[in-house]
Amino acid sequence: MTMLPPPSLRLDLDTAALADNWRSLDRLSGAARAGAAVKADAYGLGVGNVVPVLAQAGARDFLVAHWSEVPAVLAHVPADRIAVLHGPMSEADCRFARATGVRPVLNSLAQGARWVNTGGGPCDLMVDTGINRLGLALSDLGDPLVARLAVDTLMSHLASADEDVPQNAEQLARFRDVSAAVPARRRSLANSAGIGLGDAYAFDVTRPGLALYGGIPRAELVAAIRQVAYPRAAILQVRQIEAGEGVGYNAAFVASRPMRVGVVSLGYADGFLRCWGARGYLRYEGAKLPLLGKVSMDMVVVDLAAAPGAREGEWVDVPYYLPAASERSSLSQYELLTTLGQRYRA
Ligand SMILES: *Cc1c(COP(=O)(O)O)cnc(C)c1O
Repeated sequence: MTMLPPPSLRLDLDTAALADNWRSLDRLSGAARAGAAVKADAYGLGVGNVVPVLAQAGARDFLVAHWSEVPAVLAHVPADRIAVLHGPMSEADCRFARATGVRPVLNSLAQGARWVNTGGGPCDLMVDTGINRLGLALSDLGDPLVARLAVDTLMSHLASADEDVPQNAEQLARFRDVSAAVPARRRSLANSAGIGLGDAYAFDVTRPGLALYGGIPRAELVAAIRQVAYPRAAILQVRQIEAGEGVGYNAAFVASRPMRVGVVSLGYADGFLRCWGARGYLRYEGAKLPLLGKVSMDMVVVDLAAAPGAREGEWVDVPYYLPAASERSSLSQYELLTTLGQRYRA
């Protein structure tokens, strides 16, 4: 086949930072060992790029949400290190779990019954201590079915670990009670933000996702976490415009003076949504290039006043230090990662 020409979008991953982030989160987890949430294609960064690096750094437990996400992870780590958070919705899911050897996370008595009735075996168990998302209700724990489960990891999930609210301590106290009541090989409560809450929340295994990839949900993690994802986009065209001319859809920006502007290969399909709006900018060799007008589907236009040397075909940086990018775009750090799209090339 004819070789593809070079791309006009790049996603450069700092894999040393990714490995360091895992090691830092593992250290902050105290006696517990950090796992890794790699659902949603490792939060948009690519399971194939991320999982080998984390496994090499020392991560043993990998979490996906969907059964469809298993094969990509299984290509890099043994099955008994993978758990599927959405759990078995059908007998076909149970068969798939057994055939591959990955563990389902059971989230209800119905899922538990399905797993036991199709043969049982090692599983994880999610208990809801207050998020009201997935998980057995505390009132379900006395059901005789629970005693029949071979629970590897007993889990719960924090609702507000990125905030200092009483709900954190309430969930911790409930999870301690659950831990005393349900036999399991290991216990696990903390996501990235939960690790920032301190040792008491760590139990045996922690489950960071966001912070592995450079997200910072709590101030305690600022010093420990480095940026991993660096999106870069090419300048497709440089144009000279006159005072009074509009730029882009609906002429949302109108020049008040003659300007040199750059049309950059970056749009919604690449995670760059209209909410970046007037506060957004790109950078060329450090110089700030403010966005002009609206983001188009595949392009944005920037002011090149600060970068007189910028030429067509050159790269500009998309500022993606996640806490700051979140602040400016009003997208969550999770959204910034998971919407990056399919058109970037390494
Ligand atoms: C996604 C997820 C995580 C990881 O959460 P982050 O906030 O990204 O660290 C941990 N546990 C469960 C159950 C999850 O669904």
